[in-house]
Amino acid sequence: MGQTMGQMLREWDMIRNNLRSLWYEAQEPCLLCGADEGPICKNCQEMYFTLEMGRCQQCGKLVEPDVERCADCEEGKGPQEITRAAAWGHYTGLWKDFIWNMKFKSRPLLLRGLAHPVGEAALRYLPASDGLVPVPLHPERLAERGFNQAEVVASLLHWELGLPLVQGLERVRPTHRQVGLRRGERLENLKGAFIFQGASIQGRELWLIDDVITTGATLEACAEALLEAGARRVYAFALAGGREGQKARE
Ligand SMILES: [Zn+2]
Ligand SMILES: [Zn+2]
Repeated sequence: MGQTMGQMLREWDMIRNNLRSLWYEAQEPCLLCGADEGPICKNCQEMYFTLEMGRCQQCGKLVEPDVERCADCEEGKGPQEITRAAAWGHYTGLWKDFIWNMKFKSRPLLLRGLAHPVGEAALRYLPASDGLVPVPLHPERLAERGFNQAEVVASLLHWELGLPLVQGLERVRPTHRQVGLRRGERLENLKGAFIFQGASIQGRELWLIDDVITTGATLEACAEALLEAGARRVYAFALAGGREGQKARE
């Protein structure tokens, strides 16, 4: 005998509920703390992304609202050549862990859930651009890690905002790790490390994309190469950066 009407209805109910959960339980947990409110819960938003704070226009770090430049940049220690910079969140706590996992545990897919908020943040702080340029890794580092985290962020923005990816910025010289180096040493370390060898970027306004901004020395060296190749302006955006008044950590 076939199913009774009652069994069929019960089965249909189950199927319907499963379908419903596929479509409607899109409510994912917070990617940082696991709370019931994704992709980033209110608590984490306030803790790490503090939208009401400003961003230092020159180095991107989080600053008090209405402050244009952080004290370091006022003293001329910020990256030159960058028209405007912005870090999305404060590089600390769970946000720092998240980026660290993405980078060193080879989990670029972690970022996928953040495409929309990342896009919104970039547009909030920077004027639209003609293209996205990821900060390159040296081929040796790339081989070690398997992917370039800056490229992952740039592709995310590419899909989310429809801005073209610009290839051709290359790291031609391996550099020492920057941790522990002072700004002058970092600049020296990065001198001539980047070169642009792609299709013409003459007159273009570009967003330089990285995962973390620390002193901005890398951005400065990249921006120099892009401007030398004819770019009109270079803006910078990163997932995370320092916060004024709190010690910068790598
Ligand atoms: Zn959270
Ligand atoms: Zn600054």
